[in-house]
Amino acid sequence: MTEPSAIRSPHADRPVVLSCAGLNRSFGGLKALKDATLDIHEGEIFGLVGPNGSGKTTLVNVVTGFYPPESGTVTLFGEPITGLAPHRIAERGVARTFQNLALFKGMSVLDNILIGRHVHMRPSALGALFYWWWAQKEELANRRMVEEVIEFMQLQDIRDEPVDVIPLGLQKRVELARALVAEPRLLILDEPMAGMNQEEKEYIARFILDAREERGVTVLIIEHHMDVVTAICDRVVVLSYGEIISQGRPQEAIGHPKVISAYLGERAAKRYQREAAS
Ligand code: ADP
Ligand code: MG
Repeated sequence: MTEPSAIRSPHADRPVVLSCAGLNRSFGGLKALKDATLDIHEGEIFGLVGPNGSGKTTLVNVVTGFYPPESGTVTLFGEPITGLAPHRIAERGVARTFQNLALFKGMSVLDNILIGRHVHMRPSALGALFYWWWAQKEELANRRMVEEVIEFMQLQDIRDEPVDVIPLGLQKRVELARALVAEPRLLILDEPMAGMNQEEKEYIARFILDAREERGVTVLIIEHHMDVVTAICDRVVVLSYGEIISQGRPQEAIGHPKVISAYLGERAAKRYQREAAS
């Protein structure tokens, strides 16, 4: 059976990177995620949108192991990862950024980015003296990767600055760089453009497209700026009160009447549709 054209991925022939099946998660009496099911194919830029509080970050936290789901499964490259600890999932090639920045204040831009390499550092590389020669080699490889990403993200000029003195837009870029040095196969971005001006947003959009092109990463991105979502995403799902209410190509999925009412409320959506029809 073929998928309906509205939800067929332009990458449908490529392997499935991430598969979520029937994910549920509550907080107290609140169902933050209800039966969430989706597949992301290799090479896709996949958007996750929806009003505030609709469960986007919860979905990402379930996928990355920060919150175990109450039911449902998460499969990464065909292997079950449901309930694994975040660092175990990171080791399997998943890197993420956080909605609220999670940088180490007081440390330089460079050191913050270097931390992203920890998934590739074996204990001996972290300082065991017996293996100092081997550790040094490892350290060099890590440095090389970090330098490459600093150049790719154009952060050379601020590499030695303490991360908390640089503007928010650049801090977000440092967080993205930290995720990239982990050489992820799946990169998950939680509102990477929040608080950015138009020019900064375009920069990040370009980086994301280049990261896919040059590094072969698959991307799951939570984003509020619909212009960006439409421009860079291959497919999106829309969440409302923890439920997927629409999915498909960005314009179709976002333009669905259910989505308009989720954002505007029922009455405003009807008025909007009447006006659009007249
Ligand atoms: P979004 O990212 O779409 O804005 P979230 O996934 O952060 O939404 O939140 C979905 C719902 O779950 C919200 O009502 C939020 O208050 C609630 N929620 C999220 N995380 C927690 C938590 N750790 N404890 C209690 N409630 C939470
Ligand atoms: Mg969120």
